[in-house]
Amino acid sequence: MRDVIYSSTRGDALKVKASEAILRGLGPDGGLFVPDHVPHLEHSLEDISKMNYQQTAYEVMKLLLTDYTEDELKYCIEHAYDSKFDTKEIAPLTKAGDAYYLELYHGKTIAFKDMALSILPYLMTTAAKKNNVKNEIVILTATSGDTGKAALAGFADVEGTRIIVFYPKHGVSPIQEKQMVTQKGDNTCVIGIEGNFDDAQSGVKKLFTDEKLAEIMNNAGFQFSSANSINIGRLVPQIVYYVYAYTRLLAQKKITDGQKINVVVPTGNFGNILAAYYAKQMGLPIAKLICASNSNKVLYDFFESGSYDRNREFVLTSSPSMDILISSNLERLIYHIAGNDAKKDSELMTSLSQDGKYSITDSMRSQLVDFYGNYATEEETKDAIKSLYESTGYVIDTHTAVASKVYEKYRKETGDETLTVIASTASPFKFTRSVMEAIDKADDNADDFELADILSQKANIMIPEAVTSIRNAEVRHDKVVETQDMEKAVKEFLGICD
Ligand SMILES: *Cc1c(COP(=O)(O)O)cnc(C)c1O
Repeated sequence: MRDVIYSSTRGDALKVKASEAILRGLGPDGGLFVPDHVPHLEHSLEDISKMNYQQTAYEVMKLLLTDYTEDELKYCIEHAYDSKFDTKEIAPLTKAGDAYYLELYHGKTIAFKDMALSILPYLMTTAAKKNNVKNEIVILTATSGDTGKAALAGFADVEGTRIIVFYPKHGVSPIQEKQMVTQKGDNTCVIGIEGNFDDAQSGVKKLFTDEKLAEIMNNAGFQFSSANSINIGRLVPQIVYYVYAYTRLLAQKKITDGQKINVVVPTGNFGNILAAYYAKQMGLPIAKLICASNSNKVLYDFFESGSYDRNREFVLTSSPSMDILISSNLERLIYHIAGNDAKKDSELMTSLSQDGKYSITDSMRSQLVDFYGNYATEEETKDAIKSLYESTGYVIDTHTAVASKVYEKYRKETGDETLTVIASTASPFKFTRSVMEAIDKADDNADDFELADILSQKANIMIPEAVTSIRNAEVRHDKVVETQDMEKAVKEFLGICD
């Protein structure tokens, strides 16, 4: 088997193996690491349908992370997908209404980010060993809510790593903040900043690219790395659950071997749906990749017109993890449909950073036939939660509801009755207020924990451990700093003196 080699979407001077791509996170030119080829699944779908989640994960990941040994990869998988998930199936499928919901929220922080962030720390520490990195790895993250907690939960108490998360002190939901500030683990550090998410993000970028700081860090035995969704180490584990979902349907005889299914993905940064695209390239019989957006419908417009244009108003919605105008992982798709052309990709990305927009060629567009894009407004999102709840009793969160609505639009528009899997990306208990407002009404005087009690009764489901465990948990991180003091805070946590 030929090794899969990774290079940047913006230039192929540097070619690295998977472990180095994971350690680096981002290409030296600011591009994203992409595989030079996508291998086909080795075993038949029938064979994979007899495997459990962990075995399926090995079958998929070994094909793309070719420089990890069998022992290394199995070690990572076994430690990631264990009893931290509240179900043995890891990613169960539930039929409700016209579709199957692939529940990706049974991990520690009840959002789909756990699927990749529970394994990334193991992939990264293994990569550090393989590449003779002696420094302790310091994960630096800016978060608007979800990624920070999932990264904290993943890296807490992982030997050889520390993690520092900056979040906007006045810009996250009460449950999101409580989740982060109660985080356990001696290697974790959570800091609020007096500023918004952009301030946190630019502060972190500045620390990343500060060469003087890198040298000070190195002398003290540390180096920075990134856990955000542009890391290939987050993308590869996400391919697994599409293969798993398909083979479960096969095992349950809902489909026959080779029968095509559709996949609907509520999309923000384009990571999750890109994983489904790679799954298709590996031979998974997927017909349509349905990309669902909220009112920040930049991707819908892109699929409609072939032009990506971020020059528009940023809308705050009830599906905040999809409030995004620059979908970074789309760059990988652009590179592939240009014929793995780094020069073309680079040209378009320069145009994006200079003018906020770019247009693809007709020949690139013709390769997007498998994609369908649409969006749901705030009203439609609410309506999707309410109508599914009233007709089936099944409760979905706001992000999943966007996908559910878009799927309804797709069916109406095309009449396509192909069996369809919707990626369900968060537990309704993570966005309790919006969910309660949709199915009934949310009492303004009740806090988010009280609303969780009411939702639990209404939906007849237990409140997830992720919520009950923080309700009365001790606050362990109460530091708040001004943006200009972020570097000082990092040094303090690492015990580096000036
Ligand atoms: C991050 C996130 C998304 C968007 O996923 P992308 O991979 O960024 O497209 C959707 N739903 C939830 C709940 C998320 O946390």
